[in-house]
Amino acid sequence: MKKMFINGEWVESNSGSVRHIINPYNQEVIATVSEGDIDETKNAIAAARKAFNESDWSTIPAIERGKVVHKIADLIERDRDELANLESLDTGKTVAESLMDMDDIAAVFRYYAEMADKEADGEIINSPIPNSTSKIVREPVGVCAQITPWNYPLLQASWKLAPALVAGNTLVMKPSEITPLTSIKVFELMEEAGIPKGVVNLVLGPGESVGNEMASNNDVDLVSFTGGLETGKKIMQAASSNVKKLALELGGKNPNVIFADADFETAVDQAMNAVFFHAGQVCSAGTRLIVEESIHDQFVESLVDRAKNIQLGSGFEESTQMGPLISKEHLNKVIEYVERGKQEGVTVAVGGSVPNDPELQKGFFFLPTVLTDCTTDMRVVQDEGFGPVITVEKFATEEEAVQLANDSIYGLSGGVFTNDIAKAERCVAKMRMGTVWINDVNLYFPQAPWGGYKQSGIGRELGKTGLEEYQEIKHVFHNLKPEPLNWFK
Ligand code: NAD
Repeated sequence: MKKMFINGEWVESNSGSVRHIINPYNQEVIATVSEGDIDETKNAIAAARKAFNESDWSTIPAIERGKVVHKIADLIERDRDELANLESLDTGKTVAESLMDMDDIAAVFRYYAEMADKEADGEIINSPIPNSTSKIVREPVGVCAQITPWNYPLLQASWKLAPALVAGNTLVMKPSEITPLTSIKVFELMEEAGIPKGVVNLVLGPGESVGNEMASNNDVDLVSFTGGLETGKKIMQAASSNVKKLALELGGKNPNVIFADADFETAVDQAMNAVFFHAGQVCSAGTRLIVEESIHDQFVESLVDRAKNIQLGSGFEESTQMGPLISKEHLNKVIEYVERGKQEGVTVAVGGSVPNDPELQKGFFFLPTVLTDCTTDMRVVQDEGFGPVITVEKFATEEEAVQLANDSIYGLSGGVFTNDIAKAERCVAKMRMGTVWINDVNLYFPQAPWGGYKQSGIGRELGKTGLEEYQEIKHVFHNLKPEPLNWFK
């Protein structure tokens, strides 16, 4: 039985509540975890509060915290294969993808560990008041609640854990209830790395109870959430109880604009990658293909030919290119999403259903799907499907391409494929998204900030900004020649 980590102890819930964790490839139970409720969540928050107020974690030199975070990166590298296997068992993604995730995760811990004694500095400013000094210092925010989704369970956790720790915060994390295994393992590694008691706490359980308590509890100073838009809105409301600091990484409906002058083969290949990687369960998946009309038919033909050949299967088979969706519930949502598209009048150019292959019947598979004859007013073009489904729209002019790309409540990311450098820059300047790729898709790294415009979220993870999310800024004014003001004589 996998347990929660509260105040330096591995504990089961008082209620005895458990959840079976399912392999989405064959529905086998791969682990059983103890699930907490509001009481355990309160205990975890109290432990984090006590550790913040009473331990020296937030006041030791930042370089010391950096050493611990380096050690966590070492341990992740040591246990890379075990972690990758666990992630693939839990999510269905290929082991090759999970191994890439683990490398990225270790790199995130390293990046912030290196930053510990560099970017955590303050600043002396020129005081306009005679005989005084004025300095800006950066301090930890306090107790942080961190809530993560199921699509990149440990990667999303690492973007929150590493900067929060380096900045000197204490924290309570809740992974998605359906994919907690790698987060549990990393809490074991953080214990091994020597993080003091109460600094990191892990609670397991449903969002409506455990997650809501984390977002609303008045002893929490910051809530950082990655997940869906509707959940993000609930968290924003719950967090208002004590005006918590808020970091939201929400959904996306990301356009990928292809101009006729782009390198054709590269653009097709990247468009495939943009949407079929991890079965489209990627917040930045390029699910809205916007293609110049002169190459539309040829582009769709090429995409369809290649989508037909994508190898579905177990993430543990080397030949597999795409695994299953995460759960039965999510598969049903993707089926409904495509059915709605059919009712709206799209053409299913390929896919559009679950596969017939008898080998795949126990898994939550959906065929790689290309939908054409799509227009921007359709829900299938506006809603996040979060599956291996791409919608294709046409444009005639550069202005129209940009207008279609921006026609969304979301603003997470977008791509532009063209060999005309000036055109690319003109488009990018007008695209309202947190990340725009030119002649590439879905690329991110620890050094660059990640986050969304519009309803894709608030704040940024990764980069220097990702650390600043976990810092308060204090202005310290020092009067070097204090004397009475005699205002109130
Ligand atoms: P979700 O919103 O259903 O759940 C995310 C987390 O929130 C889970 O841990 C869940 O238990 C918890 N939760 C649910 N209800 C809650 C509540 N009322 N209060 C507090 N916590 C609650 O999202 P999901 O289905 O796990 O993940 C998919 C979504 O995540 C997609 O919309 C995707 O775009 C988004 N996502 C965004 C990014 C990004 O960087 N912007 C990255 C990954 C995923």
